Amino acid sequence: MTQNKRTFSLELFPPQTPEGAAKLRAARARMAALKPRFFSVTFGAGGSTRDRTLETVLEIQQEGYQAAPHLSCIGSTRESIRSILEQYRANGIRHLVALRGDLPSGMARPGAFRYANELVEFIRAETGDCFHIEVAAYPEYHPQAKNPQDDLQSFKRKLDAGANSAITQYFYNFDAYAHFIDECQAIGIDLPIVPGIMPIAGYSSLARFSDTCGAEIPRWIRKKLESYGDDNASIRAFGLDVVTGLCERLLANGAPGLHFYTLNQDALTAALWQRLRLS
Ligand code: FAD
Repeated sequence: MTQNKRTFSLELFPPQTPEGAAKLRAARARMAALKPRFFSVTFGAGGSTRDRTLETVLEIQQEGYQAAPHLSCIGSTRESIRSILEQYRANGIRHLVALRGDLPSGMARPGAFRYANELVEFIRAETGDCFHIEVAAYPEYHPQAKNPQDDLQSFKRKLDAGANSAITQYFYNFDAYAHFIDECQAIGIDLPIVPGIMPIAGYSSLARFSDTCGAEIPRWIRKKLESYGDDNASIRAFGLDVVTGLCERLLANGAPGLHFYTLNQDALTAALWQRLRLS
């Protein structure tokens, strides 16, 4: 696949404070120079960031870039999702990342939607082909999946419901992605599945988050990162080498693009972008 047919995109989260918004604006200006295909903006489960996600997405659009809001459905009513879709449609948004999300602790009721395939079905029923819909994929399987086979079928249900493409949970193990793609192809899935890439900025929070979301940090990487202790420069240098190597392998083996989890920081993503010559 040629480089310009591939999709390179960046993920942001909506800032919580005016200072955070100003910092993100500055970081985004630097990220925009990389010319990503789109910026996606996360959405807090239960609608907790609804207004901030919308504000961030509208700012990105006003700056002249394509924005793809995430939309998670757990804990939501049909009316609330309908009104969010209407707001996006009225503002010219044509690209969504549709998710189930996770119930915030203390919220017992799942709401009108139990799984992301039901959200995708609802979006298609309400808005036809208005939106390009991305869904989440899990090369190392979703942590709540009963077994890999069921998880794969759940993934297929989201695509059968009308999703156009997928972005994966991050991973550091190339073989997990390659195996997942083989499994998808074996059951007739041929839509683009873009690897999600998490730059390595530190160790302890990455290790905690990876445990929660079911992303494996291979032992050799974990051991090396642990050995650097508080030496953040070494962690970042080693992380850049590891993640560059992973991305090179993914692209050499036909991955349809890369989606970077920037955590609103531009430096590591920009360094990866340059090393991979994506501009
Ligand atoms: P689903 O596809 O519904 O799957 C969830 C689990 O249910 C899986 O274990 C699946 O196997 C199982 N399942 C699905 N259908 C069925 C069924 N019919 N019967 C039984 N089991 C079933 N979270 C946020 O809150 N906000 C975000 O902005 C956000 N962005 C994300 C972006 C990406 C690219 C990724 C990979 C994840 C993101 N997440 C986000 C996290 C995501 O919400 C969680 O991983 C969540 O737990 C699952 O969401 P999903 O859409 O993958 O769910």
